[in-house]
Amino acid sequence: MTKEDKHETTRRNFVQKIIAGAGVSTVAAATYGLSSKATTPDASERRAKQYAMLIDTRKCIGCHTCSVACKAEFDVPLGVTRSWVEYTEKGTYPNVSRNFLPRLCNHCRHPQCVDVCPTGATYKREQDGIVVVDSGQCIGCKYCIQACPYDARFLNPVTGVADKCDFCIHRVSKGLVPSCVNSCIGGARIFGDISDPTSEISRLVETNPVTVLRPGKGTEPQVYYIGADHSDEHENKRGWYDVRVTTHRKEKGRR
Ligand code: SF4
Ligand code: SF4
Ligand code: SF4
Repeated sequence: MTKEDKHETTRRNFVQKIIAGAGVSTVAAATYGLSSKATTPDASERRAKQYAMLIDTRKCIGCHTCSVACKAEFDVPLGVTRSWVEYTEKGTYPNVSRNFLPRLCNHCRHPQCVDVCPTGATYKREQDGIVVVDSGQCIGCKYCIQACPYDARFLNPVTGVADKCDFCIHRVSKGLVPSCVNSCIGGARIFGDISDPTSEISRLVETNPVTVLRPGKGTEPQVYYIGADHSDEHENKRGWYDVRVTTHRKEKGRR
């Protein structure tokens, strides 16, 4: 289905989907890990351009400058955020360690948020692989928020529609890097076109041991990490993923 086709899905279609049970079953499958969606990358799905980010956690000092820069860039309301930094603390004093894990939308090659959106408001851009939300089409149903395996989305309390990182399209389209990359004190973030084998991010991904979050989900995240501590990431018996990290996203009252 093309983007244009998707956008022709109206609120009336959405209600009809609900009545027919089709929308509910799709979301339930995605939410509870019942989807049979293939996880194997398909070469035919590769885009001419796919923007991606590499985060070298060895250089991250947990300063949260990236989070603040993002807040300022988009005037993100208090209590929600597009970009944030989680951390893990391990050991017993005096043998302790703290590891940082900057987080944002992964702009997945197979985004589950797109699969469940009943109006086509959220989609993956053909020209650069960025996953976006069309606020004019979003009805605030929160399906995408539940479906995202990375907790990357939230309902914007001011606009009432789904929100998340969009790789700073307004900056990238002018040849600039995203605000979090521009502001990173540690130089830990590299942004670029991972479909271009000559780009800096491609060379770094090729020459370093990199990981992505929850590869078992088959989403093919396009945020890569060097040196990330994934040791607390595990799949529980119900087929859901838990990450035992300290994050504002687990605070009470999160929207
Ligand atoms: S991280 Fe979540 S919101 Fe972002 S593209 Fe992937 S599934 Fe969608
Ligand atoms: S809340 Fe998410 S799933 Fe629902 S219409 Fe908006 S973008 Fe689509
Ligand atoms: S700005 Fe850079 S160094 Fe600071 S928390 Fe963010 S990723 Fe880490």
